[in-house]
Amino acid sequence: MLIDIITIFPEVVRPYFSESILKRARDKGKLQVRVHNLRDYTLDKHKKVDDRPFGGGPGMVLSPEPIFRAVEKIGLRVKGSPFAIQQQNNGKASGDRKGLRQKKRKTKIILLSPKGKKLDQKMALGLSSQEHLILICGHYEGVDERVRKYLVDEEVSIGDYVLTGGELAAMVLSDCLARLIPGVLGHDESNKSESFCAGLLEYPQYTRPASFRGKNVPKILLSGNHQEILTWRKEEAVKITKKRRPDLLK
Ligand code: SAM
Repeated sequence: MLIDIITIFPEVVRPYFSESILKRARDKGKLQVRVHNLRDYTLDKHKKVDDRPFGGGPGMVLSPEPIFRAVEKIGLRVKGSPFAIQQQNNGKASGDRKGLRQKKRKTKIILLSPKGKKLDQKMALGLSSQEHLILICGHYEGVDERVRKYLVDEEVSIGDYVLTGGELAAMVLSDCLARLIPGVLGHDESNKSESFCAGLLEYPQYTRPASFRGKNVPKILLSGNHQEILTWRKEEAVKITKKRRPDLLK
């Protein structure tokens, strides 16, 4: 999977992909992440990417021009993307290409926004088979509406709260997608028992020591009886889900 992230704070985003499982995924060639500075795509000589909102009100809004230019330039470099196809056909890439994107879905353009569809494991599973994602991080008061209307395929929220910028949301989305790419986790089995994967929260996990400050690990986990451990884990998963997230059982 290739993920292109467009942001005005690339240095906030880059380090996250240089550690742990995400770094290993990149090293193994399972995941490629490119972080782009939106300011590199503005035509303004002062590298300005925002302006005051029409109609008044507080704050600044990210302008459409640099975002359209960034997405088009990034898209053109990806063989088979709607931008590359359109360039082949017309000799140039510009304008509204929603129709074209609907035919050719290799690239999906996502705007991170609190107004978007809320991210969950089901959405992540659907997106994890996508070959190429372009993630647009908003900032300030948000992004000019024409970006949402004429450029993006999906608007994704990571929860019912408002962040300062889309950077954390882009990292959350990329992280949760990367775990679902076959071969990224040490054990692909992990994805089958983890919370939300089978509509349940995960059973409790314990590690050494078996007794810690007088608190003991459930005996069954030390029994070596795999069948009984499996049954216990299933029962615990149902119990925890019923108690904490009964909505999942529906
Ligand atoms: N004025 C906007 C509103 O009320 O809906 C909020 C803008 S927010 C301060 C700036 C940017 O942060 C957004 O454009 C978006 O990219 C990102 N953002 C904030 N909260 C988010 C969330 N829950 N999920 C995804 N992105 C979020």
